[in-house]
Amino acid sequence: MDQAPAVGDRVSTFARLVLAPNAGPMTLDGTNSYVLRAPGSDGVVVVDPGPSAPGHLATLAAAGRVELVLVTHHHPDHTEALGAFHAMTDAPVRAIDAAFCVAGAPLVDGARIRAAGLEIDVIATPGHTADSVCFSLPGDRLVGAHDGDGDGAHGSVLTGDTILGRGTTIIADPDGALGPYLDSLESLRALGTPGPVGVLPGHGPVLPDLAAICRAYLAHRAERLDQVRAALHELGADAGTGAVTDLVYADTDASVRSAAEASVRAQLAYLRSVG
Ligand SMILES: [Zn+2]
Repeated sequence: MDQAPAVGDRVSTFARLVLAPNAGPMTLDGTNSYVLRAPGSDGVVVVDPGPSAPGHLATLAAAGRVELVLVTHHHPDHTEALGAFHAMTDAPVRAIDAAFCVAGAPLVDGARIRAAGLEIDVIATPGHTADSVCFSLPGDRLVGAHDGDGDGAHGSVLTGDTILGRGTTIIADPDGALGPYLDSLESLRALGTPGPVGVLPGHGPVLPDLAAICRAYLAHRAERLDQVRAALHELGADAGTGAVTDLVYADTDASVRSAAEASVRAQLAYLRSVG
């Protein structure tokens, strides 16, 4: 079957990763854009076209007939190019937040999307942002692909910035919130439990086991919350974000200080909401 030349690195049976040229303290190596297609499909789905970088967009557009663009969340490193990419491909753009949809309907939790020969399940995972969403791809078994092709029998999940390939994600209060984020991690952990389910993150390398990384993230969050509780004990219950950040994120680089403060704000909001 005729297909456009493959672009990016094959990271699973159905997914190729095209790294955007926007490396930085908040984006790690850059934004991971993904091109999804079932074997034999001439259409593709592009997830997170990313920043307005003409060469990057040209690469994505050359991957095949773009049927659909999906958005994991509204941050500009994932969405800046949505208008330009829609103009190039005419493909509808769908996100949880209607403000980021172009010629497409908003995504709904639990919906199943059929495109590029795939069935893609929508899993709302608020926390990093209120509009964060993950996309679950079926396991090899469903399409008779070969063992060892990457998605494994249990499939894989595109996690946006809910789970990163390296380090941990930021809960950006007030758009993001820790309570929903912990719930989202629990649902992803449950989804990954029959696993191993592959993780295709918005930044950093792909990971082999969704349940394992969710457990690690939950443990990290519990540890940070303990540190914030200890800081409040030391500084007083009304301590401000800056003072708590100084104690808990003392080892944090200045380039991500404002992100650390946002994260502390989210933790304080969470602790104060649960008493
Ligand atoms: Zn991002």
